[in-house]
Parts: sequence; structure tokens; C-alpha cells
Amino acid sequence: MSNTDRRLARLRQSMAERDLRALIISKPENRRYFSGFSGEDSGADSAGMLIVGPSWVRLVTDARYVDRAAEEAPDLEVVRRGDEWAQTMAEVMGALAVYPVGFEEEHLTCQRRRALEEQARGRWALVPTLALGDDLRAVKDDQEIGHTRRAAEITDAAFGHFLTIARPGMTERVLAWELERFMRENGAEGLAFPVHVAAGTHAAMPHAPLSDHPLAPGEAVIVDMGARVEGYCADMTRTVVVAGGAPGEIEQFRTIYGIVLQAQQAAMSSIRAGMTGQEADALAREVITAAGYAEGFTHGLGHGVGLEIHEQPSLRKTAEGQLSSGMLVTVEPGIYQSGWGGVRIEDLAIVHDVGLETLSRSTKELIIIGE
Ligand code: ZN
Ligand code: ZN
Repeated sequence: MSNTDRRLARLRQSMAERDLRALIISKPENRRYFSGFSGEDSGADSAGMLIVGPSWVRLVTDARYVDRAAEEAPDLEVVRRGDEWAQTMAEVMGALAVYPVGFEEEHLTCQRRRALEEQARGRWALVPTLALGDDLRAVKDDQEIGHTRRAAEITDAAFGHFLTIARPGMTERVLAWELERFMRENGAEGLAFPVHVAAGTHAAMPHAPLSDHPLAPGEAVIVDMGARVEGYCADMTRTVVVAGGAPGEIEQFRTIYGIVLQAQQAAMSSIRAGMTGQEADALAREVITAAGYAEGFTHGLGHGVGLEIHEQPSLRKTAEGQLSSGMLVTVEPGIYQSGWGGVRIEDLAIVHDVGLETLSRSTKELIIIGE
């Protein structure tokens, strides 16, 4: 049985539990996961939709993608759509008299739903489903873990490159481009997300935009990045400090860095399958709270990673879902102080019954650049 067949078998089980005869998959990551076809949507322009039936799968797509789909997914039956995509969808479903039909309510637009309903004319009922595919993608198979390991290795190598080139006076933008170039030249097909380099007061914003700010003495520098391999994302953050600065600046960094590292290690050493996302989050949050920085830890502890950079499961205060063996998660506590900066340390890891297996290998020792 191929990986795709195994995934479809699990999907059909979920569909049966909801009394669905067929499911329309429009979300690109789910379309890829359940078919092997990697076409990417651009804006509102869709590379196609899958219709998963009780014993068949059809991809309805347009002329641009027919050959690509045939090459990437030879077993998939590709239906070339006419001018009206919804009409082609209706023809596929009508011919097979499937009813009722699920769709992904987190992705299909209201406009597309209306177009499908107009075509249905009562022949089938469209039933919203939430995160059916997303839930099934949370636990990874060996092939997915293999791609992610490779993406994590490239990301580690890029951080090594950063340490050899980063000097005071270089700008965030130049460093981000150097990291992107390095990852692309060393086996990444692309990036999991735009490289994030935030120095000084920008580091106080967990999602600061890139700027032309040059690294200045005493500043904390957050570097968050991930390579992408066969669609799979890596995600890692390290924080370094620039040598020099006002008296006490490096010491302040050292204190906060030590707390974040301790929180990260507390979580990394205790998270295991069976724990809830909430319990995982608390492991790190307790350390930061005990040190008096509860207000500075402004986001959740981590998230699932896969074909999407943020996917199931969630590790945060309100996450009640349990972690399972085979999930890929990040562990990324941080402390941010407006007007000063911030520290975040993030590793990517596989959840096992006995604990976490860390994929990120980059050093977490405190690094002072430009010394
Ligand atoms: Zn990250
Ligand atoms: Zn992350």
C-alpha cells in the first residue's frame, strides 16, 4: 500500500464517520497530501480540486496543470475542467450519484460554495467539514519525517553560515538575504516562510518586518528561519547578541537568555505523547513566570509543522488536544520587552511516547557576535 493509499484509507474512515459519500478538497496542502499533486494556488486562482469518493479520487484542474499532475501522481485520474469549473465538478459528481458531499469550510470560499450549490440543483447536499484533512496530517509518516529532517539540516547549516558572516553594521535585510541564498543553494526548494532577522528594539516584536537597521553594539538579534524540502517546512530560532554596548547590556541579555533557555530545556526534556498542548505550554511558562517575566512571554509555546508552517497540533495555554507519537512540533519560548528587545529559542522535534527527538542541531550556547 502506498503512502497516498494509506492516507486515503484514513480519510475515508473519517468521511464514513460523518456519513459523507464524497469530499471536495480545495486546500492546497490537503490536495497535495491526499494525491501527490503539488500544484500551488496563486491568490484566488486555484490549481484544482480533488473529489474523493468511496473508491476513487478525481482531480479537476485546468490545462496548465494536467501534465504536471499526471507526472507527479500517475495513479490519479485527472479531469480537465471546462470554462465553468463548478459545472465540471457537477459532471464528475452527478455521473457518480454521490450524496452527501463534504467540503472544507476553513478553505472553500463562500463564492465557490454558491457556485457548487447552483450546479447541485438538489442532486447532492454540500456539508461543511472542519479540519478533516488537517487533523489527519498531524501525525507524520516516515517519508514526511525524512523530508523534514533534510529541511532541518539545511536550516542548521544556514545558521552556521550566519555565525561566520554576521558582523556589527550589517543590516537585517542583508543578513536575511544571505540566509535565504544559502538555503536555496544548499538543497532547499524554497523557504518555509520569509527569513526573520530582528535586531535591537525590533526583536521585541515576535513578527517584526525586515528593515535596513544595522546591527548595533549590545543589541539582541533574533534569527527565525526554515528551509523547505518536498513541501515540508523546517522552523528554528536562535538569538545572539552583538558585542559592546552600554554597561550592563550584555549582562541583561545574559540573564534573559538564561531564563528562556532554561524554559526551553524544561519543555524539551519533559514533553511526550499523551500530554495536552496546554500541559506542554505550562512546562516552559512556569519557568518564565517564576523568574518574573510572565508578561514578556506573549505567545504560545509551539505549533505543529509540516506542509504548512503552522498546523496541528497547537502547544499553548488553551490547547486541550493531546500530543501523539509521530507529530512534528516546535518548542519556542520567548521573552520580549518593548523598547529593549527579545530572546526566543526554537527547536523542531518529533513527539515520541518516551519524549521528544530534536531535529534542530544548532548550538544554544550564548553567542556574542563581533567580539
Ligand atoms: Zn520559527
Ligand atoms: Zn515556529
